[in-house]
Amino acid sequence: MKYCPECGTALVLKMLKGEGEIPYCGKCAQFRFPVFSTAVSMIVQNPDKTKILLIQQYGRQDNILVAGYVSKGESAESAVRREVMEETGLELVSLEYNRSEYFPRSNTLMLNFACVAAGESLDGVNNEEVDLAQWFTRDEAREKIRPESLAKRFLLYFLDKK
Ligand SMILES: [Zn+2]
Repeated sequence: MKYCPECGTALVLKMLKGEGEIPYCGKCAQFRFPVFSTAVSMIVQNPDKTKILLIQQYGRQDNILVAGYVSKGESAESAVRREVMEETGLELVSLEYNRSEYFPRSNTLMLNFACVAAGESLDGVNNEEVDLAQWFTRDEAREKIRPESLAKRFLLYFLDKK
């Protein structure tokens, strides 16, 4: 960020106690912390936690995790429930934070959650957003998920930590 988002003045780096050098607008007399998006991605498990849901989207053959952006004013937890419902029609009975990673290409902080669905029916999958949704065993999911992806790192971390 080079210019103040409020007034357009060129930002300068200024020391902020405990934070280091932060972009500062002299005209507004305000620190302007770098702006980024926040998104959630979900490891959705079936009720007995033996299977994991992977989806394909946008005409690609890659198996990925359900994901979406957090709306302004919304908590990460409610974004998790909303996105899973919107894309798969599945209700969640529980969710737990797994891990996060910053994704530079879209300037997004991705928060990953492991969730348990209330049922296994995929009849409610939103075919406008999702090309294919399939349950895989935990071992299959490990193999089938898109290689070298953020989704794969999240999934392996989750599967290997127990
Ligand atoms: Zn300003």
